[in-house]
Amino acid sequence: MSTASRATGGADLTTRTAAELAEQIHAGEVTSVEVTQAHLDRIAESDGEIHAFLHVAGDKALEAAERVDADLAAGKAPASALAGVPLALKDVFTTTDMPTTCASKILEGWVSPYDATVTTRLRAAGIPILGKTNMDEFAMGSSTENSAYGPTRNPWDTTRIPGGSGGGSAAALAAYQAPLAIGTDTGGSIRQPAAVTATVGTKPTYGTVSRFGLVACASSLDQGGPCGRTVLDTALLHEVIAGHDPRDSTSRKVAVPAVVAAAREGARGDLSGLKVGVVKELHSDSYQPGVLESFDAAVAVLKELGAEVIEVSCPHFEYALSAYYLVMPSEVSSNLARFDAMRYGLRVDDDGRHSAEQVMAATRAAGFGPEVKRRIMIGTYALSAGYYDEYYGQALKVRTLITRDFDQAYQQVDVLVSPTSPFTPWKLGEKVDDPLAMYLSDLCTLPTNLAGHPAMSVPSGLSKDDGMPVGFQIMAPALADDRLYRVGTAYEAARGAIA
Ligand code: GLN
Repeated sequence: MSTASRATGGADLTTRTAAELAEQIHAGEVTSVEVTQAHLDRIAESDGEIHAFLHVAGDKALEAAERVDADLAAGKAPASALAGVPLALKDVFTTTDMPTTCASKILEGWVSPYDATVTTRLRAAGIPILGKTNMDEFAMGSSTENSAYGPTRNPWDTTRIPGGSGGGSAAALAAYQAPLAIGTDTGGSIRQPAAVTATVGTKPTYGTVSRFGLVACASSLDQGGPCGRTVLDTALLHEVIAGHDPRDSTSRKVAVPAVVAAAREGARGDLSGLKVGVVKELHSDSYQPGVLESFDAAVAVLKELGAEVIEVSCPHFEYALSAYYLVMPSEVSSNLARFDAMRYGLRVDDDGRHSAEQVMAATRAAGFGPEVKRRIMIGTYALSAGYYDEYYGQALKVRTLITRDFDQAYQQVDVLVSPTSPFTPWKLGEKVDDPLAMYLSDLCTLPTNLAGHPAMSVPSGLSKDDGMPVGFQIMAPALADDRLYRVGTAYEAARGAIA
């Protein structure tokens, strides 16, 4: 444990894995109420410093836990493999019993009239929701510093960022405030926070986790996904939230990949027959040396486990950042038009004598933070008449080329690997005035989003240069999410404990 914020004072309920907790709850050795209360206590003692949560829902979580305990006591089968194990939910999924703010002033205090499908699935699975976690405003950012409610701190070193946009969910796991969490990943917001907090996070195949009730950032890229401290816990949660949803028009009518079985198979530690590709373009001298060293060591572990490792080239990945930062803001500029002072949240109308346009402009000026405004402006420009083909159209072509690079690579290998992020967590404040430097931390995660593929970040140890966590990224073709888990548990077991 590197700082007091990760020290829990011993082996109490908060340091156990979700799989262990579920087993103990279902066997009647401990109650869901006790487990939920232990995490609420942990939040109470540590969140003043970490600020992982925007809203804690103690009473509601305990009520949900009581229902699970009552059902089990009555002899009913657990509602799911994770029934009774509490969770932290990113504040971008709607909830009827808690506010949903997306960490924006424009939605301050807003309570949704309906639950997101992910929320509904969690409730149906008997998973108590501890509260809503902090994030970059509307999921734009890589450090959680764009939250309108103040940043989250990294439990490994509270002077550093926890990643973003899902820094709250990742920090809650790393600080033992929650054994499970939900994130969303548009360009890396599940994986980069996982990497810099030594936790696990998966972006599932696009269209396999419902976006209904997930407040839209960039609709063709957004995907909700599971976060945990172990690969198996993440797999268990993946199976709870994934599945077809008729209320999401991009939801795929396919069977959820058997990720739990794959995780258990991987834990046996045999990767013989598996072909792994190291992406040449995602292994650059411009990355932090400690990150590259950790990555090379992880690849050596895969070889020891029997995998065949080759280098592959994805030449268009070089343009992924530019393409993403046109497609993403373009979709943002369109999606965020709904915050017009008429329908949701904030309304700035001093004396009631202004026109609708004036109220709208004043509300958006006051309600959105600088990064959101920057992206709305970039996106509006990229989509404007006369520039559409030159910017947005070009970016879509690059997107196709990147998908083709992946397709060619997957003809040679089963999975691709890279560092999750070129950097370990930096100091709070270090990059806030330099958006481009911030964007560079997503270099390795963006291509998968552009292609709609699944990818996972698994901790690969602490960096030699600053002692901070490093993430190892595993990528797979669409609907082959199970491969991530097989490789993930095999690697995790062989790697051993981090600290
Ligand atoms: N950091 C990236 C961005 O700022 C990714 C965000 C995300 O995945 N939601 O756009």
